[in-house]
Amino acid sequence: MEQENCIFCKIANGEIPSSTIYEDMDFRVFLDLNPATRGHALLVPKKHFADLFELEDELAKKAIILAKQVAGRMKEVLGCTGINLVQNNGEAAGQTVFHFHLHLIPRYENDMAGITWNPETVSSEELQELVKLFSE
Ligand code: 5GP
Ligand code: ZN
Repeated sequence: MEQENCIFCKIANGEIPSSTIYEDMDFRVFLDLNPATRGHALLVPKKHFADLFELEDELAKKAIILAKQVAGRMKEVLGCTGINLVQNNGEAAGQTVFHFHLHLIPRYENDMAGITWNPETVSSEELQELVKLFSE
């Protein structure tokens, strides 16, 4: 269930206090200590899973439904006009806490969150090659 020395296990299970905005049997949603924008929250399961690949399917389903509900609530109470859901898996993807979490990042006109990437170009041959890889 809980993994030793996992900060999000301790937060999720209430051993370490957090600014909680939602809690049920399976999940806790709390405010990020270093927010990208006002109201940036993290949705975590109470049970330990390192990342999306480990997360149980039933909890994955519940997580996205809960994210939808919290995102709606954020729009109501914060007045944000957009929301990014961000979910990092692995160091290469920027994951720093290895307990599954979903970022809910409220977005405001002209905020400085900068959640973006540099779009590259891709040839039709490369696209075909990629499609082929997934069909094997
Ligand atoms: P990651 O980079 O793993 O996707 O995101 C980890 C997030 O957890 C970061 O946004 C970071 O600010 C947040 N964080 C790390 N430790 C704590 C903590 O002890 N409390 C809270 N509320 N947020 C944390
Ligand atoms: Zn954990």
